[in-house]
Parts: sequence; C-alpha cells; structure tokens
Amino acid sequence: MGTISDNIADCRRRLAGAAAKSGRQPEDITLVAVTKNVSVAGICQALDSGLSNIGENRVQEALSKRREIEEHCAGKALRPVWHMIGHLQSNKARDAVRSFDLIHSLDSLKLAQKVDQEACSAGKKQEALLEVNVSGEKSKYGFSPAEVETVFDELLSLRNVSVRGLMTIAPIAAKAHEARAVFRGLRQLKERLQRKAGPQFALLSMGMSDDFEAAVEEGADIVRLGRAIFGERPLK
Ligand SMILES: *Cc1c(COP(=O)(O)O)cnc(C)c1O
Repeated sequence: MGTISDNIADCRRRLAGAAAKSGRQPEDITLVAVTKNVSVAGICQALDSGLSNIGENRVQEALSKRREIEEHCAGKALRPVWHMIGHLQSNKARDAVRSFDLIHSLDSLKLAQKVDQEACSAGKKQEALLEVNVSGEKSKYGFSPAEVETVFDELLSLRNVSVRGLMTIAPIAAKAHEARAVFRGLRQLKERLQRKAGPQFALLSMGMSDDFEAAVEEGADIVRLGRAIFGERPLK
C-alpha cells in the first residue's frame, strides 16, 4: 500500500478504466471513502487529497469524529458529504437524520417510517437508498428483491424521505463473476422500480475495494472504498 493520497490516485485510475470500458464518465461516479475504524487524521488526509464523501457504518462513531473533521474542513473551505452505510437501528434514527446527507441502508419499512418521523421533526427531507440483499445470504441485512417490490409504494409515499435508489453488498470473497451477477441484478431491479418511481430514483450504491471495477461496469453510481484507500483495517 502507498500513502492515502497515492491509494486514492490509484483508485481513481481504476475507476476511470472501468468507466471507460462501459462508456461512462468517471465524474459521474461518486467515490465514498469508507472510514470505519479510520482515525480523524487519516480521514483528513483523504479530504485533503480531494475526496469529499465520507461513509461511516455507525452513527456513534461518525458523531465522535465529526466535529474535528468539520473544523479541519472549515479552515479549507471543504464541505464533506456524510453517508451512513451500516445497519441503522431505529433508536439511532434521530441522530442519523441529523448527521447524514444520504442513508444507504434503509432495510425495512419500519425503519423507513421511523426515519420519516425523525426527518419530519428535524424539518428535513432525508435522502436515502434501499438496501437490497440480492445474494440472499442469511447473515445479511436488506430487503429481499421481492419484498422491495411489495413495499415500494409505501416507501415512495413517505413525505420526509426521498428514496433515491438502491444499495447492495456483494458476498465477501465472491468470485468476480458472482459479484458481477449481484450488481447486474441490482441494476435490473432499479430499472423496473424506476418506471414506477420516476427519474429521481436513479442511484446504485455498489462496489467495494475488491469488486468496484465490476460494479462500475455494471452501472454503479456510488462506490464505497475502505481498504483500497486506507489499507487493511485493524481488528477490533
Ligand atoms: C466496510 C464497508 C465497505 C468498504 O469495504 P472495503 O472492502 O474496505 O472497501 C463498503 N460498504 C459497506 C456497507 C461496508 O460496511
């Protein structure tokens, strides 16, 4: 691994290569730096290297780092964009709505309703993605594809949540063609749902350090990279 800044340059090169392969523009794809277990200093290096999207898995961890990061950014006129990418417990919905620009992990109707309530009391329209468990692994959070279609109208009717698209996680250690099939499945589901929801329902958040090139080729709008930027995570 190189420095954080070298790693980001390398990720950008690979992302551009994958975009070119599929006739897309790299600027249209958002690179989210996944910063679970990453120190504030590491995050600030990523911001100084030109990334502005930060993805955290836990509300508490994000809150504990946030003030220092905002202070770092204020001096440099950087405006970080906060992404909640981990499983969200209902009792954290209030803090999540107040802290995140985009929640990637709406994984039940109940949670979506709770986020809707909290967004209402915060006077905010919360942008969010629906997490879909495309691969059907038991250990994973997310709607099944069939379930999303069942509750989709109800999700769209929430007044304080703007449902912008879908998110998925490919199986860990999947073979490349297996990950690709998951990404393609998510894209096809989005295309079906988009006919109902309209053009604002457009975003696909898919692809991590080991599989983001395939995700981009299959239509990812947002990739979420941790290890490829910051190196292996220390075990916690
Ligand atoms: C940890 C995590 C990532 C980043 O994983 P890497 O393999 O380190 O790139 C992306 N998305 C989610 C939901 C994660 O939990």
